Amino acid sequence: MTDILSTGRNGAVTNWAGNITFSARELHLPASQAALRSLVAENRQVRVLGSGHSFNRIADVDGDGADTALLSLAALEPSIDVDTTARTVRVAGGVRYADLATRVASCGLALPNMASLPHISVAGSVATGTHGSGNGNQSLAEIVRTVELVTADGGTRVLNRGDDGFDGAVVSLGALGVVLALTLDLVPDFTVSQHVFGELPLVGLDFDAVTSAAYSVSLFTDWRGPRFNQVWLKQRGDTAVDFPWAAPVSEPRHPVPGMPAVNCTQQLGVPGPWHERLPHFRAEFTPSSGAELQSEYLLPREHALSALNALDAVRDEVAPVLQVCEVRTVAADTQWLSPAHARDTVAFHFTWVPDAAAVRPVVRLVEECLTPFAPRPHWGKVFGAEPAALGARYPHAADFAALSQRLDPQGKFRNAFVRSFVRPFLS
Ligand SMILES: Cc1cc2nc3c(=O)[nH]c(=O)nc-3n(C[C@H](O)[C@H](O)[C@H](O)COP(=O)(O)OP(=O)(O)OC[C@H]3O[C@@H](n4cnc5c(N)ncnc54)[C@H](O)[C@@H]3O)c2cc1C
Repeated sequence: MTDILSTGRNGAVTNWAGNITFSARELHLPASQAALRSLVAENRQVRVLGSGHSFNRIADVDGDGADTALLSLAALEPSIDVDTTARTVRVAGGVRYADLATRVASCGLALPNMASLPHISVAGSVATGTHGSGNGNQSLAEIVRTVELVTADGGTRVLNRGDDGFDGAVVSLGALGVVLALTLDLVPDFTVSQHVFGELPLVGLDFDAVTSAAYSVSLFTDWRGPRFNQVWLKQRGDTAVDFPWAAPVSEPRHPVPGMPAVNCTQQLGVPGPWHERLPHFRAEFTPSSGAELQSEYLLPREHALSALNALDAVRDEVAPVLQVCEVRTVAADTQWLSPAHARDTVAFHFTWVPDAAAVRPVVRLVEECLTPFAPRPHWGKVFGAEPAALGARYPHAADFAALSQRLDPQGKFRNAFVRSFVRPFLS
């Protein structure tokens, strides 16, 4: 997995996009659980870097002090243990979805949903509330049934669904300990066919009907007009799609207009395994770094049309720094810090050009437009609001702060990003 962590100037560790150079002098790669536990016990501050696909400082340590460790689990055994009877999988903390999905599929089982890119780590993804799309599909965190943590003293803490605090322990922002392994619920294997349709105007859009048209629906726009350029429908099984609002395209497409579709998953309605259709991008294509920045805002689905109209009003400012905007839906979940917590959600994702100075004012503008709808920013992407300001949007923020204090009284796993969020709730 280290192959997708970039090394910047002077050997510094950067995230996948290269917009964040981590503060740590080095990335520790413990090769055994014993080495991992010693590292955790001996350092004053510890953070784990997953596959480095977040666009902000969520994974960072606070400085390059000798008693501070940024570590990766990439050198540990990448175990994936499927229990076909119980329909569960125990997956080690450093494993990526691409490897997990291949193994699970080989056992005749499936994950209910996936994010757009299969190269992201499972532990890192659920820690930030990562999601795919679908009116009936919850965030990826919701299928986690057990979290195994290495705690501040190097010991072990296991939390099972139903335990006190469990709903705060999955979307954890990496703040409760090192996630050594997760156990996930699985579903029976299924096939998916992916259908891409062309232009869909905003005028007259029946958002609920459009997003109900398939198991997973993604709407893409470059905001150069009041319309979506493409609609991607991922349909389960052999059921035909009925999509009377746009015309099907005749050749494979990339979400970004004009980009070659060679790295995208199979389209044109050809049925195939779930894990080769649910992500937008093929697992065998490994992007070493990404020339992009991303932001995403999740808000109650009932506001989808009003929010689309608010964004349409600023599209002349948005379009020049945008590669593509993707609109998805996510079903409400129970995770305290999930951006889809307790509300059926519409998610507005923006892939920006890789120019932070040009993008920053537009991010602020988008946030202003969406503020009336109480948006929750994706924890792993670029946003302008201080984490401290977000507590009011999470009814269980105080519970999470208390959980983090209980499991980690000295704050070993809390970095500046996390402290900013929990501080208002700690005495
Ligand atoms: C090209 C691309 C496509 C994306 N597509 C989607 C999408 O479809 N949907 C979506 O919602 N998001 C998407 N994202 C965002 C991405 O899913 C999140 O940023 C996710 O957190 C990335 O996982 P990671 O392993 O790279 O995490 P990192 O960025 O490495 O870390 C994220 C957080 O997890 C913590 N963490 C990681 N591993 C552990 C561990 N073992 N123990 C404790 N804490 C840990 C880190 O400390 C940090 O706080 C995309 C990002 C990119 C670059």
